[in-house]
Amino acid sequence: MNSGIEQPEQTAQLGETLIEVENLKKHYGGGGMFESSSVKAVDGVSFSIQRGETLGLVGESGCGKSTLGRTLVRLEEATEGTISFDGTDITTLSGDELKTWRRNAQMVFQDPESSLNDRMTVGEIIREPLDAHDWKTKTERQERVLDLLTSVGLREEHYYRYPHQFSGGQRQRVGIARALALEPEFLVLDEPVSALDVSVQAKIITLLEDLQEEFDLTYLFIAHDLAVVRHICDRVAVMYLGKMMEISDTEAVYADAHNPYTRSLLSAIPHPDPSTSSHRITLPGTPPSPRDPPTGCQFSTRCPAKIRPEGYKHVDEAVWDAIERFREVVRERSRMSLSTVDRLKRQLGSFSAYDDIDETVTDLFGDLDVPTDVSEHIETAAGLVKEGRPADARDHLNDTFNGACDLKRPDFHPVGEHNHMSYCHRHESDYEDVTPVITRRTSDS
Ligand code: SF4
Repeated sequence: MNSGIEQPEQTAQLGETLIEVENLKKHYGGGGMFESSSVKAVDGVSFSIQRGETLGLVGESGCGKSTLGRTLVRLEEATEGTISFDGTDITTLSGDELKTWRRNAQMVFQDPESSLNDRMTVGEIIREPLDAHDWKTKTERQERVLDLLTSVGLREEHYYRYPHQFSGGQRQRVGIARALALEPEFLVLDEPVSALDVSVQAKIITLLEDLQEEFDLTYLFIAHDLAVVRHICDRVAVMYLGKMMEISDTEAVYADAHNPYTRSLLSAIPHPDPSTSSHRITLPGTPPSPRDPPTGCQFSTRCPAKIRPEGYKHVDEAVWDAIERFREVVRERSRMSLSTVDRLKRQLGSFSAYDDIDETVTDLFGDLDVPTDVSEHIETAAGLVKEGRPADARDHLNDTFNGACDLKRPDFHPVGEHNHMSYCHRHESDYEDVTPVITRRTSDS
C-alpha cells in the first residue's frame, strides 16, 4: 500500500491481476408498464485490480461507486459485462460454486451502527459467516472469532458483549473482523471511515493497512474524502454518472489529472496554506438523472472544458455559460409532463404555465452582450416553452448548440505513464487538450 503524501515519487509494486472487469453494467428497472427507461447506475466500466493493491474509487454521491462495489462481490447482479476473479467469470456462478466463491470477497459497510445486528453478541456476529459456510468445528469457529477480535484490536472478553455497548470505531472493527472471518482475498471497503470521528478514522485506516499486510488482502476503497484516498490507495479511479472518467496511480492523478471532472473534484480539496492561491472549479447545476444520462459524454452538461460547435467558438465565456444554464432549465422543463388541463389550454392557445421562462432569460442573459446568432435561438426556444412545447425547445437548442461532447461518447484514452487513462474527447488530436482550456477558465473566474 502507498504510504502517502510524503512519498509522491513512489509507485506501487503490484502483483498479478486479481480482478478484471470488462464493460460492466448495472441497470435497475425499465421495461415495465410505468417505467420508460432504466436507471443506469453503472454503465459500462472496464478496469483491473492487482493482487495486494488498494484501488480507490471516488466520485460524487450517486455516481454509482457503491453499486459497482456491491456488484463486484455479487451483492448485486450485473446487467451486462464480466468480472473475472483470478481467471473465473464470477457473474455466471450459481449454487454451490457461488457459495464457495463468496468466501473470497467480502464487504465492509459505511455505517457500523446499522450494519450490525443489535440482538446478537459480537461473537455471534463475527461467527455468523463461519456458521453459514459450516466452517470447520464449532470449537474451531469460536477460536477463529477470538483470534479475529485480537487481530482487529478488540479483546477476547468483547465476545459476549452487544454492539450498542461499543463506540463507532469499535463497531467498525467488529464489521472488519466479520468480513475477514472466511479468510477472503478481496475486500470492498464502502466508505469505511466516513461515519467516524477524525481521530478514530486514522486508527481504522492504520488497522486496514496492517491487516492488508498481514493477510495479503486486496482492497477496493470507496470514499469521497480525497485526502484519505491519497493516503491509503495505490491507484485511484474516478466515477461520474456510472462511468469511469480517469484511472491511474494515485500520485499521477493528484499531481497531473487529465480529465476535466477529476480536475474539478481535486480543485475542491482545501489547500493546507490558505494564502496559496488555488483555483477552485465550481461546477454548475447537479448531475443529470442516471435514468436519462446525456447522449454524449456523461459530464457534458456541467463540464468546464466542453467542446463547442464550430459556429460558436467566438462566443464569450459568460454568454456560453448562460447558454448552457438555459439549456439545463429547458431540459428540466421538457421532462415534466403537462396536466390534462394544461394540455387543453395549449390546444386552445391559452397556455401560460411556463411564462416565467422570460424571467429566466433575463436573469441569465440580461447583463450580457449577446450576439444575434445566439439571441435569436434563445428567443425561439423561449417561445416554444411558452407554447407548452419544451421538448421542441430542447431539440431546437440541441440542433443549434450541440458539439462533439453532446453528440458522441468519448473513448478511454491513454494519457501519460502508469496506464493513466482518461475518458474525454479532448485527448483526440482534433481538439485542444484539457489543460489550456481549464487553465483559461479558472484564471478568468
Ligand atoms: S468529453 Fe467533453 S464534456 Fe466530457 S469531459 Fe471531455 S471535454 Fe468535458
